[in-house]
Amino acid sequence: MSESYLKKITKIKQETNLIEDILRTYHYINPDFVHYANKMRECCQHLVIQPNSDGLYRYVPAWSCGVPFCPLCFQKNKPKHEATFYSAHDCLMQRQETKSCRFIELILTIEACQAKNIKQVVKNLAEGFARLINLKQVRDVVVSASKFLHYGITANDGWLQPHYHVILLVKAPGRRSLSVYEWQQLWKEAMRLGYDPKLYLQALGKTNHDFVNKLLYGLEAVHPKDIQGNAYSFAQLLNHSKNIQKYRHYLLMKEVISNIKRDYQGTVNDDRGNLSLRYDAAKRLYLPVK
Ligand SMILES: [Zn+2]
Repeated sequence: MSESYLKKITKIKQETNLIEDILRTYHYINPDFVHYANKMRECCQHLVIQPNSDGLYRYVPAWSCGVPFCPLCFQKNKPKHEATFYSAHDCLMQRQETKSCRFIELILTIEACQAKNIKQVVKNLAEGFARLINLKQVRDVVVSASKFLHYGITANDGWLQPHYHVILLVKAPGRRSLSVYEWQQLWKEAMRLGYDPKLYLQALGKTNHDFVNKLLYGLEAVHPKDIQGNAYSFAQLLNHSKNIQKYRHYLLMKEVISNIKRDYQGTVNDDRGNLSLRYDAAKRLYLPVK
């Protein structure tokens, strides 16, 4: 049984209470907020013990709420994504096309926007990215891509900094790679911007952990630490961002991921454990159910 998992999920449960409070405070913004807060209070309230695929027993949440940006739901789904990404890394590395390729991360930004315009802004971003990935200069060097939408919340005035974290597998060396400046100009062209957008490029470490950790980081569209101190902007984001797609895979990664998902079907373990824990809000701890 993993003690550290219990420690981690207890901390996240405590953090989630903060978001619940934000939703109650800003209940007048959206009639769904009180309903969301009530669901969040029950999220991962029960932990049950289940055998893992490796035969070891571990705690898993019996139920999670599904409220957008819920940190507990993210934590609950993390092992599933983690396993998928490790498999994806193995599959990518076995492919002939990826020999002498390397992973890089691009952060593609645009100017900040008001939360009320976020749907249209993200639609423009998605169209811009689709144009970018189809540019000849990009097709010549990129063999695989995963794109994750992040909502930067850096001020409490209802403005957001939407941006993409993109993990790319690019051909190197031998062929000339694109420089930061070239990427920036291609992104500017694809997005049809009248200004030079900020863009960051870095090489990823060589291990499969580096790859998986980057993708897991990408999946969390809002970081809980950004929510604290920016409660109003977060409430506006939640109010305006319903049904926006958060991530998408392209090229080899798209193919690899869809093969893995097909293989997983039918192997879901729904055993119910016989020892369970329940979160005690007053004591801020998970305690055994008597
Ligand atoms: Zn939840």
